[in-house]
Amino acid sequence: MARITRRAALRKPAKSGTEFRLEYLNRHRFERQSFDKAIIVTGATENHGFHLPMGTDTFAAYAVAEETAKRVDGALLLPPIPFGVSDQLMPFPFTITLTAETLAQVIFEVAESCLVQGIRKLLLVNGHGGNNSAIDVAMRKIRRLYPDVKMAASLAWWISGPKLLPEGTFAKDYGIGHAGEAETSTALYLVPDYVDMDAAKGEWPASPKEVRLLATIPELSVSGATGDPTPATAEKGRLLVTALADYLARFIKEMDRTGWKFNRENWSFLDR
Ligand SMILES: [Zn+2]
Repeated sequence: MARITRRAALRKPAKSGTEFRLEYLNRHRFERQSFDKAIIVTGATENHGFHLPMGTDTFAAYAVAEETAKRVDGALLLPPIPFGVSDQLMPFPFTITLTAETLAQVIFEVAESCLVQGIRKLLLVNGHGGNNSAIDVAMRKIRRLYPDVKMAASLAWWISGPKLLPEGTFAKDYGIGHAGEAETSTALYLVPDYVDMDAAKGEWPASPKEVRLLATIPELSVSGATGDPTPATAEKGRLLVTALADYLARFIKEMDRTGWKFNRENWSFLDR
């Protein structure tokens, strides 16, 4: 069982605008602040069609997490975990995958390190759909072993973000797809020099509504992309990252205000 070696709550709360990215903090600067929450980012290193960089999912999730951390007090942003569960894309270069079991263990051990350091509120921002089963296993294990720890997760920025924007912002189906309109817009906003729109092509593989298929991407797509990236713009990417960060910041602020109780009757403050 972890022993609490550091009482974050005894130090002054970190104000928005000060350094909150763990990899940039030295011990002196870290100890001048107080962090009572940590944000864990899970990404992926995988093929994103011909036009998007391999780190697209990591860049997007990290940007959402960074913007969220800027908007709240006391949130420590951890360096992103760059590898995810990407076995469905292994046939395409240059994908690197962990098994779900490994990623679940990595998330668990990162979270447990935070607990040992005295942080007991955790937000995970995920960048890649293949990671979700691992995140679920890790969260359940954390809750089982540390019942007083509060952990929440944003599992799918590429779905949640577009749904927070006015209908019609994206051309079709909320811009969905692997390297589709939403992802491509976000990459155009975050890493424009690494997006090759001349190579962006859409494919719309069909799937049954009520049956889950665990298909590899080559069974579904020639390019390795799905959806239609061609209407993507950097502005849509900015709107998406901002909307999701605003949403997560509202969540954290309200949780801070009300003692991180998950049994509230009304969550409508998130719908603003
Ligand atoms: Zn992606």
